[in-house]
Amino acid sequence: MADELRKKYIDFFVARGHVVIPSAPLVPENDPTTLFTGSGMQPMIPYLLGQSHPLGVRLVDSQKCFRSQDIEEVGDNRHDTFFEMLGNWSLGDYFKEEQIAWLFDFLTQEIGLPKEKLWISVFAGDDVIPKDDEATAIWQKVGISKNRIFHYDETKNWWSRAGVKAKMPIGEPGGPDSEVFYEFTEVEHDKKFGNSCHPNCDCGRFMEIGNSVFMQYLKTDKGFEPLPQKNIDFGGGLERMLAAVHDEPDVFKIDLFVPIIDYIEKVAGQKYTSANSASFRVIADHLRAAVMLIADGVQPSNKDQGYFVRRLIRRAVRYGKQLGITQPFLGKIAEIVGKTYREAYPAVMRNVLSVTQAIEGEENKFLRTLEKGLQEFVKQTAGSAKLTAQLAFTLYETYGFPLELSIEEAQHKNLTVSGNIHQEFQKMKNQHADRSRTASVGKFKGGLADTSEAVVKYHTATHLLHAALRQVLGTHVEQQGSNITGERLRFDFTHPQVLTDREKQAVEKQINDWVAADLPVTQQTMRKDAALKAGALAFFAEKYPDQVSVYTIGYDPEKDWISKELCGGPHVTNTGEVGQIKITKEKAVAAGVRRLYLELV
Ligand code: ATP
Ligand code: MG
Repeated sequence: MADELRKKYIDFFVARGHVVIPSAPLVPENDPTTLFTGSGMQPMIPYLLGQSHPLGVRLVDSQKCFRSQDIEEVGDNRHDTFFEMLGNWSLGDYFKEEQIAWLFDFLTQEIGLPKEKLWISVFAGDDVIPKDDEATAIWQKVGISKNRIFHYDETKNWWSRAGVKAKMPIGEPGGPDSEVFYEFTEVEHDKKFGNSCHPNCDCGRFMEIGNSVFMQYLKTDKGFEPLPQKNIDFGGGLERMLAAVHDEPDVFKIDLFVPIIDYIEKVAGQKYTSANSASFRVIADHLRAAVMLIADGVQPSNKDQGYFVRRLIRRAVRYGKQLGITQPFLGKIAEIVGKTYREAYPAVMRNVLSVTQAIEGEENKFLRTLEKGLQEFVKQTAGSAKLTAQLAFTLYETYGFPLELSIEEAQHKNLTVSGNIHQEFQKMKNQHADRSRTASVGKFKGGLADTSEAVVKYHTATHLLHAALRQVLGTHVEQQGSNITGERLRFDFTHPQVLTDREKQAVEKQINDWVAADLPVTQQTMRKDAALKAGALAFFAEKYPDQVSVYTIGYDPEKDWISKELCGGPHVTNTGEVGQIKITKEKAVAAGVRRLYLELV
């Protein structure tokens, strides 16, 4: 039972001198750099960086998390968008010896996992940081046999806020980490991995249940030095740990999900089986997440956090349709989730009426859209053998009917769908936007002379181009200037030589991939130093005021972004609106400075 497991974990660490801290809200307070709380560590960062915590140096909690970046993973046996992370911290107090021994005791004694089913990963070391022999030795000492301890490089077993060591700025702490995996011996894992299978293998045999970070190094201009205050950060997924307790590889079979799955079975008139599991899981996960987010104050909307709530609900509606559910059914899940979390998060049940209303409102709105679009689809395709991009676009424009749905419907009806329908559709979107130039002069505070939609798109394309160049050519690329008309973008940047055709194609492809990925473009106002620290690019940083506007492109402005720049805007709200682009010209403008021209297709 989840309530029991959560309590056991907290009591275990309280008995070892830890103080319980409440879960931070899913929308971080006083942190405009990120949309959601995605780990137990996130709200603890200031204390891990040295600020003293009012409740002491040993802390424990269960943190509500939302990972928008995992949305596409949902449907497998182990990923949720919303989940709880059990966490314990040492702020300059105990270190590896205690952490590993306690975690091992908790897993084996307290919740009864057989030690033979636990596999461990430890940092392998490289030419900069030595192998973490200390952690390996402690794991062996507590009773893990050597053949179940695996060593991996920094892409798997190194933690810093920036990721791998090369990306860490000077002055940033980091360290090796050590993950615990549970082995499902009964699971029908993918045999193709055979003998090469290991804890980080994707075959389904292993599931990561927790990770201990050993924060012990500081990056300096001379390399890495030991940190004076060493910290422990542990994060373990409650849902996954419970699945391990039941020796059940499907996290959707734990008690937090059972009542939701039961309810979906009832409305769909079918049992949860391996054939339909992805649809059940998406609905169950997305609705639980939407309920938790709404209960934390986020309403479905077009931007920021609200955009994800909308997306969760709309995806659930679509997956419901795949199960043959045609009537509204999502609102009821609010109460089911509320009851499940009555003990842990009583606020959900207290707000159940308004949460239900928000979900039903969004569900109905989307159902109406789909219905109208569908009727029109049937009417327009009567007697035809093909879905044209033009029809898909008309449905999209008039009813907000997503292109994917048109394609799905066409497949149901055995209509042919042309291979380039995505590009065609995008082109129409672009042309349409150009025709409906709003030219709402003065709408944007930047005082731009021309704020037509094309210009706004070129603004966003500038950021995409900058990011793509840095990705393809390297981070020596720095913007030197840019100039936009309604017809094209001109962009100057540092780079020592002429671009090869290959490089140009790679840059174009990268931008077009980002466009196809429909990444949200979000704006935040924040302190300049915080923005720069978060990795925002700013050329001539000194000319910006203390409070700056930052535009981020990506699903999660803190963890999962491809571009972050100080900029006054305006920008489109989603990279999909930019549409496909091409590079039309390239030349030199000065020694070490190149110029590219880019146009919307
Ligand atoms: P994975 O590679 O399986 O996605 P991760 O490396 O992203 O996991 P961490 O960031 O180390 O995981 O998070 C700590 C713990 O939180 C994991 O060990 C796991 O138990 C849990 N966890 C992470 N992501 C999810 C998720 N999407 N759903 C459920 N639990 C999760
Ligand atoms: Mg992950």
